[in-house]
Amino acid sequence: MTQGCIICSGIRGDEALSRTEVWRNDLWRLTLSLDAEVLGFAYLEPIRHIANIAELDGPEAASFGATIAKVSRVLKAATAAEIVYVYIFGDDVAHLHAHLAPHRRGDALNSQMIRGEIVSEKQPNGFERFFSREFPALPEAEQRRIAEIVRRDLAGQ
Ligand SMILES: [Zn+2]
Repeated sequence: MTQGCIICSGIRGDEALSRTEVWRNDLWRLTLSLDAEVLGFAYLEPIRHIANIAELDGPEAASFGATIAKVSRVLKAATAAEIVYVYIFGDDVAHLHAHLAPHRRGDALNSQMIRGEIVSEKQPNGFERFFSREFPALPEAEQRRIAEIVRRDLAGQ
């Protein structure tokens, strides 16, 4: 437990975060929000203090996939959702937590993740592309440069 971390305070911190614990095992716990725009909005977090996704290691890393899949299936079924969105941020509360948001067409959620006025544009392939007028896409060359770095670094692992 890390001093001052509200997530490390477990059930005691849940009230302050307007949520209730619904499941735990030795490594993970799942809480449901009591103050959400959709039913079943949940948080999956390791019990051990792991600051963010880049620091996920050990048995939590080994079990993350199976755990998030299991709880997502239950959330999806319990809320009759079409899909479960997963968001992981980490810049406000420095204890890894995945937001699991069961989503049904027409509810309060969408797939926009960008600041500013969002514009949607139908693509020739049928997909809808959302973009922000204030934050247009970065230059493709810059994105390709990062892609090369990530490709190279992962090839070496
Ligand atoms: Zn913590």
